[in-house]
Amino acid sequence: MSFFKTLEVDDNKSDNIKSEEHIKCLIIGSGPAGYTAAIYAARANLKPVLIQGMEAGGQLTTTTEVENFPGYPEGVTGPVMMEDLKAQAERFGTDIRWGEVSSVDFSGRPFKATVDNSQVLTADAVIIATGATAKYLGLESEEKFKGAGVSACATCDGFFYKDKKVAVVGGGDTAAEEATYLAGLAEKVYLIIRKPYMRASKAMIKRVENTPNIEVLYEHNTKEVTGTNVVTGATLIKRKGEADETEVKIDIDGFFVAIGHKPNSDIFKDFIETDAAGYIKTEPGTSKTNIPGVFAAGDIQDSIYRQAVTAAGSGCMAALDAERFLAEQE
Ligand code: NDP
Repeated sequence: MSFFKTLEVDDNKSDNIKSEEHIKCLIIGSGPAGYTAAIYAARANLKPVLIQGMEAGGQLTTTTEVENFPGYPEGVTGPVMMEDLKAQAERFGTDIRWGEVSSVDFSGRPFKATVDNSQVLTADAVIIATGATAKYLGLESEEKFKGAGVSACATCDGFFYKDKKVAVVGGGDTAAEEATYLAGLAEKVYLIIRKPYMRASKAMIKRVENTPNIEVLYEHNTKEVTGTNVVTGATLIKRKGEADETEVKIDIDGFFVAIGHKPNSDIFKDFIETDAAGYIKTEPGTSKTNIPGVFAAGDIQDSIYRQAVTAAGSGCMAALDAERFLAEQE
């Protein structure tokens, strides 16, 4: 059962903590993994509370068409699919809340999670479904122009580049998808790929090759994004072998980075085992982490498949694992 009480603020450490609430099952994250875990947990009467995080709906809210999620024969947009999943989780009584888990303490039970540095939730079981976040190249100039021409989300910002010139960096499916999406809006799209080939799936490569206003620049790296107040160009290095480097300048208005993602596991690292890249380790065939009662689902624990449907499947596993764990405790 849920309860809510006001904490007495008695020292500096708890200055910001305004309340504490105990719940049975806490779900952190609102992508396909988090919402699917919520659907299962709510139907199993675990009365889940789901904290949405900064990017409500997760990465799919920044995607265009999703054609490979079973059950949508005509495809669906990412944001619509996430609204559907949310509505389904709410239908069974999931308590979905705005906010971000700012820290956790999994050193003992009940587990503790602080939301927005102001509210402590204690929980008998926790499902981590915090996903992953877009990576940037790490250039100073890229940082300077974030929000002024540099973006990691074509569907969010593509609209601003109608009939303009843009560049997309990356050779994976995300880059291919962003490039073809932008090609529908912009006059010209440069696709900057550091290798002599694309890593994207064959279908996506074909789509890129069949789009006349995409120019693929293989074996190019970005030296800097240029401009005064907004992006007006980029300087690239064309590299063919050790001794063959040429500087190439392109005129662009927008610079989109699509080079992969970083798992959002930083706040759990003191307690939860991760691999070298930060992905949470789970016991094979389960969602169990190194701490009994804490489970992980979706991209936070999956560096291989990273699909909406695999994330949803692992969310289901996490809820079932949590349900069994809680039943064993009673
Ligand atoms: P990937 O890791 O697959 O690709 C990242 C790309 O960025 C690679 O081409 C990589 O180059 C390049 N890259 C990485 N770092 C740099 C750098 N510093 N400078 C220049 N280039 C760099 O990530 P994605 O986000 O594309 O895809 C992730 C997963 O999601 C994949 O499994 C993909 O299939 C899936 N996906 C599926 C979609 C769908 O089904 N509709 C849509 C989007 C993604 P290099 O090859 O040299 O390492």
